[in-house]
Amino acid sequence: MCVWEYDIVSGALSFSREFGPMFGYAESEIPGRIDAWEALVHPEDVGRSRTMMARHFRGDSEALDIEYRVRMKGGGWGWLHTVGRVNSRDARGRAVRMSGTHRDVTGMRQTGERLRLRELAIEAATNAIILVDAQAPDRPIVHVNRAFQAMTGYPTEEVIGRNCRFLQGDDREQPDLVRLRDAITRGAEATVLLRNYRKDGTLFWNSLRVSPVRNEAGTVTHFVGIQTDVTELKTYQLELEHRANYDGLTGLANKNLLTDRLEHASTVAQRSGRRFGLLYLDLDRFKLVNESLGHNNGDSMLKCVAARLKAAVREADTVARLGGDEFAVLLHELDNPAAVSSIAQKILRTLEEPLDIGNQQVFSSASIGICIGPDDGADADTLLKNADAAMYRAKGSGRNQLCFYTEDLNANALDRLRLDADLRHALATEAFELHYQPRVSLTTGAITSVEALIRWRQPGHGLVSPASFIPLAEETGLIVPMGAWVLRTACRQMRVWRDAGLRDLRVAVNLSPRQFRQPDLIRMIAGILDDEGLEAAYLELEITEGVAMHDPVNNQKVLEDLSGRGIALAIDDFGTGYSSLAYLKRFPIDYLKIDQSFVRGLPGDEDDENIVRSIIALAKTLKLTVIAEGVETEAQREFLRRYECDEMQGYLFSKPRPAAELSELLFA
Ligand code: C2E
Ligand code: MG
Ligand code: MG
Repeated sequence: MCVWEYDIVSGALSFSREFGPMFGYAESEIPGRIDAWEALVHPEDVGRSRTMMARHFRGDSEALDIEYRVRMKGGGWGWLHTVGRVNSRDARGRAVRMSGTHRDVTGMRQTGERLRLRELAIEAATNAIILVDAQAPDRPIVHVNRAFQAMTGYPTEEVIGRNCRFLQGDDREQPDLVRLRDAITRGAEATVLLRNYRKDGTLFWNSLRVSPVRNEAGTVTHFVGIQTDVTELKTYQLELEHRANYDGLTGLANKNLLTDRLEHASTVAQRSGRRFGLLYLDLDRFKLVNESLGHNNGDSMLKCVAARLKAAVREADTVARLGGDEFAVLLHELDNPAAVSSIAQKILRTLEEPLDIGNQQVFSSASIGICIGPDDGADADTLLKNADAAMYRAKGSGRNQLCFYTEDLNANALDRLRLDADLRHALATEAFELHYQPRVSLTTGAITSVEALIRWRQPGHGLVSPASFIPLAEETGLIVPMGAWVLRTACRQMRVWRDAGLRDLRVAVNLSPRQFRQPDLIRMIAGILDDEGLEAAYLELEITEGVAMHDPVNNQKVLEDLSGRGIALAIDDFGTGYSSLAYLKRFPIDYLKIDQSFVRGLPGDEDDENIVRSIIALAKTLKLTVIAEGVETEAQREFLRRYECDEMQGYLFSKPRPAAELSELLFA
């Protein structure tokens, strides 16, 4: 810094001796007059400095305070900060003398300029840039550039002071977030790829580079983040990935993805012990369709088949197209390997429905080979190979067939297949009949009700017991039409008895679990009663304990509806399931039927005696009529009567018999 004095009237200037070294001038080169001084000032700054000087002379400014460029001895320009003040005026107020200081601010100006340039660069950058305070709690944002707002939609004032995590919204489970946090705690650099969300909630992929900023002591004071929106690139990558994993025509998984899923299923199965199924499916005679109707129609057909396959399995299962007319289905977590054959049959049936292709109906069918994992192969390749081999065997044994890779499963499946086909045939040809077993009061001996029990008259086998076919019908769903047939036939018979004068009799019909779950159950029952002209009071429905307790909240509504219509309700096989007394009390139940397994040991078996006595006591408490099933001996009847069981059913009184044979008992 130097001090100067200016004689305004004469134009003489003088400087303290510090001035020379400031810009490299020798003593003799220092200007002594104002005009010589102005010759040193940068031409662009002369005008401004004169104006400011004149303003101060007029008294318009308190002091002169100006920065401007001055030629340096060696060439180039230095920056001078000049502050001065008039310290003497004449009688008319005109400035006569002034003095002040010069300060060399060249260095400062250069740094400032550099900073300004950097700031411009940051603002002009197309990448979003964020500056975060590394030392304040929760690392708040202290600066963002314009591109940040353009990229994220958040204006500056909404983000300053917040931690960056708001950019991820609720999508916090991202693998790269872990890496990012790790880098930040270590004060290291990192480049990560994150799913970020704009202010309007839309997703963008953010390729983020984070670098620490350290002070002279080496402490990390800030982090700089540079964000690049790579959404387009990522979308393209995802599309490529999709193409690598999905079939372009049908949108199903391709072989690649199926293989992955199979490997995964194998690993899971080895851990959980639960099996999975692999169906390998080949359309029969697809080549013919393709050649006769053209490739476009062939493609349409494959798409239809794909849609039907998807509709036939659960959401979680994988349907894949392996190429051409070959498909595969991976069935996860099977409760029962035999269920695979039901699903395969269901698929065969859905494919039997004609397809509308190019204005005509095309019939398709398929051959299916089945593998059960992990039994039939430890890895995807083996499983696919074995399922394929099974498929060829299925094709060989006639089309529209399925075949298991493992022989004994095959035999089992074939039996079941045959039984299923026979049952469908029996239903269509009315080969079922109903027998009726009376229930009698233990006090009066009167018949209160008859239970309808289905029988199958099978050529060559005589009457087949329901125990051998109801479980399969339940599994395949055939129980639904079969049960409707039972209900209709029983109601029709009851109508005949009623019309013949049996007004105190009711007919009891068993409802299977699957029937009970049908959403249109109530409509079905009401419809049949209506069709057959039978009042609801003549009908009883039996459900087992397990069915009633399976979904008690929902069941209560169904039971209340049925009961409200006047239909009596019985819990069948009581004692074999686990009843909640709370629900038992709440359900609008009329009867408890003690399972015959407990009656068998009466009298004498202490456990059975205790169980039967407890059930009777429970029924009395709940005000339910209690019935003993399977009563075969006089001693059993005696025991039941002694403990005040209300009714009994069993061979002692009568076996189930055809309606015609019962008349004798009923009209006695
Ligand atoms: P359930 O409803 O408990 O029927 C009673 C079963 O006990 C009948 O067997 C009946 O013949 C048998 N039984 C009756 N008295 C005696 C006896 O004194 N001693 C012995 N040992 N058994 C006796 P069935 O007719 O073979 O039926 C078996 C099961 O099949 C029935 O058990 C029922 O759960 C089911 N079922 C029968 N018909 C139908 C039907 O139409 N629909 C549905 N969903 N299930 C049915
Ligand atoms: Mg029953
Ligand atoms: Mg029973």
